[in-house]
Amino acid sequence: MLEEAQYYFQKAADVLNLSDRIREILWTPIRVVKVDLVVDDDEGRLQHYMGYRVQHNKARGPMKGGLRFHPSMDEDHAAALANLMTWKTAVVDVPFGGAKGGINCDPLQMSERELNAVTRRFVEETKEVIGPTTDIPAPDVNTNAKVMGWIMDEYSKYAGFSPGVVTGKPLHLFGSEGREEATGRGVMVVLEEALKERGKSWGDIRVAVQGFGNVGANAARLISEQGARIVAVADHMGGVSNDNGLDINALCDWVNEHRTVKGFAGGEPFNGPEVIAWDVDVLIPAALEDAITEQNVDGVKADIVVEGANAPTSPAAHDALVQRGVLVVPDILANAGGVTVSYFEWAQNIQQFRWQKDRVDRELTDIMRKAYAAVREMAEEKSIDMRTAAFVLAIRRVGEAAKARMYIKEEIQL
Ligand code: NAD
Repeated sequence: MLEEAQYYFQKAADVLNLSDRIREILWTPIRVVKVDLVVDDDEGRLQHYMGYRVQHNKARGPMKGGLRFHPSMDEDHAAALANLMTWKTAVVDVPFGGAKGGINCDPLQMSERELNAVTRRFVEETKEVIGPTTDIPAPDVNTNAKVMGWIMDEYSKYAGFSPGVVTGKPLHLFGSEGREEATGRGVMVVLEEALKERGKSWGDIRVAVQGFGNVGANAARLISEQGARIVAVADHMGGVSNDNGLDINALCDWVNEHRTVKGFAGGEPFNGPEVIAWDVDVLIPAALEDAITEQNVDGVKADIVVEGANAPTSPAAHDALVQRGVLVVPDILANAGGVTVSYFEWAQNIQQFRWQKDRVDRELTDIMRKAYAAVREMAEEKSIDMRTAAFVLAIRRVGEAAKARMYIKEEIQL
């Protein structure tokens, strides 16, 4: 995964004609933390899990990025995702740098007590390097508002009342209105911009979504509310389709109870991976990385791909899609709605002030539209695809900030 992030970074650095030294400085994380988390399981046996936090760049502000609890979590994953966060926060121009982390564990096999214990151990072991002005975690795969609440509680034991140490918290614990659905809402907003570009409207389109967690379910719900038909949805257990459009509210109720779309009676079952090749206008990969690869890219029928997940498309697959004229709205733009509302949450926590939901939604929409327009403009100016354009824009912003703070003293053309 790190090589894939590096491929996109280098491609944009070529456009900017950056020297090897500057590339190295902008690429290298400033801190890599690896912690051993020893906790009791429910049977009273000692278990241990590895936790990671990679802090990539802080030129534009405190570092920001999610925490992922997953068996595939390791240092490389954290480093690649931290890197993407630096560019993502720059694309939407929120005042943060980039970080990412998580714990190598399988939350589906753990009780809530065990998850609580391992989360608190993680905070204990990383409390010196996270904080409201240094590094602010947020939810990612298999973490949610409840986990963020535990983090705030544990960190506050050491540092005093600190709601700004983490975002994506529960509403009654200094979370923000609109944060839970923010990434999905951002996906919806950039899709609307992509539709305008392609001369299509909501009523015209059929959509397939891979992943029905925070990002996929909220994106599907908001997009179906616009009048589009969500005809296929898949998760790690399987898929469900309905040519007339799935009833997304009913599907959300089903998933809340059963933790999977599998078995939902409002559609036909199918084998999950087939969702990538579904006959649709829009494909939204919103699960994990490497969903679209060299192996399945030829099957993709959508002519707009909006990357709800981080790094869902391999470089070879991405380049093949672009070559075929598919509009790929890249992760660092498409799923930046979450970090944008995390910024609003952090600002509200610092000001001890609450925004109404309509303000959150309105300002999120403005930022996402502005970012889409800036990336589109860069793509036109340099005759490059949207992903390379997003990286160029972001590297330029981060580079300018680093230069202004004199991290980078030598003259560089950005
Ligand atoms: P989540 O844990 O809420 O949901 C993940 C979903 O993906 C689940 O429906 C799960 O069943 C599905 N899934 C897992 N493995 C799969 C597989 N092999 N095939 C099909 N589906 C599979 O996670 P999330 O927060 O929705 O995150 C999803 C993606 O979006 C990740 O790449 C994450 O980094 C990215 N992202 C999340 C946020 C956020 O605010 N939560 C923000 C930006 C980016």
